[in-house]
Amino acid sequence: MLITTKGLVISSRTVGENDRSISIITDELGVVDILCKGAQKNTSKNNAATQLFAYAKFCYNERNAKYYLNSSEPINIFYGIRTDIKKVALASYIAELLKYSIMNMSPHEEVMRLTLNTFYLIAENKRSCELMKCIFELRFACLIGYTPQIGCCCVCYEYSYERMYFIIKSGKLMCKPHFYQKYVTLPYENEFFPFAQTLDEKMLDIIRTICLTDLARIFSLNVKGDYLKELNRFTERYLMEHIDHHFKTLDFYNSLD
Ligand SMILES: [Zn+2]
Repeated sequence: MLITTKGLVISSRTVGENDRSISIITDELGVVDILCKGAQKNTSKNNAATQLFAYAKFCYNERNAKYYLNSSEPINIFYGIRTDIKKVALASYIAELLKYSIMNMSPHEEVMRLTLNTFYLIAENKRSCELMKCIFELRFACLIGYTPQIGCCCVCYEYSYERMYFIIKSGKLMCKPHFYQKYVTLPYENEFFPFAQTLDEKMLDIIRTICLTDLARIFSLNVKGDYLKELNRFTERYLMEHIDHHFKTLDFYNSLD
C-alpha cells in the first residue's frame, strides 16, 4: 500500500554506500522513519527531498513493518539555512527538540506550522536566529504541555505590576509583594534569583504574546538588545527546566557566540 504525506526531514543519515535513512515529522502521522534506496547518489531523483531540513511530499510503502521511499517531491529545501553555520546550528537544535519530544506532541499541526515558519523566516533572513530561537522555545514548550501561568500573580491575581517574578520550576508568576513575602528575607541588591526571573511590563507583554496569541502575531514581534538577551535567558531556562534533557545541539549553538 502506498502512503503519501508531506513531511519535514529532521534526521538524515547515510546507510551503506548509496542509501539514506530519514526521519520525517508529519501533520497526521507523527514521526516516520523511511529507508530511501539510492538517495545518497547525486543523480538520485530523491536526493534533494531526503536531505536534512527538507520539506517535501513523500510517497512510500510498507513492507514487514518498515517503510521504503517510492518517490519524493521537494516543496522547500530551505537552502538559506545551509549556507550559514548559525542557522544550521539552530535548525539542528530544533530538529533534536522535535525528535526528543515527539511523544508529547499533540496535535502535530501547530508544531509543524511553528517549525516550518521558523525555518522559512531564518532561511530567508526575515528574522534573526536569536529571536526565532526564543519564539520557538517558548511556543514549543506551550505546545507540548508546559504553558507557563503568566496571566497574573498566582496569589492575588494582579495582572500588571511594575515588576513581576516568574518562578521557573513551577511556571508561576508573582507580584512583587507576594514574591518578597514568600521568598526574600533579606534585601537583594541586583534582583538576580537562581530560581526565578524578574520581568518588567514590557517583557511580560512579549512573553504573553508568544504564549497566548496566534502564530501570525508572534512572528511580527520585534525584540532587540537587552530585551532579546533577557528573553533568551527566560525561554531557554524555562524549556530546559521542563523538558529535563541535555541537548548537545544547543551547546553547539551557544558556543558560536
Ligand atoms: Zn500578588
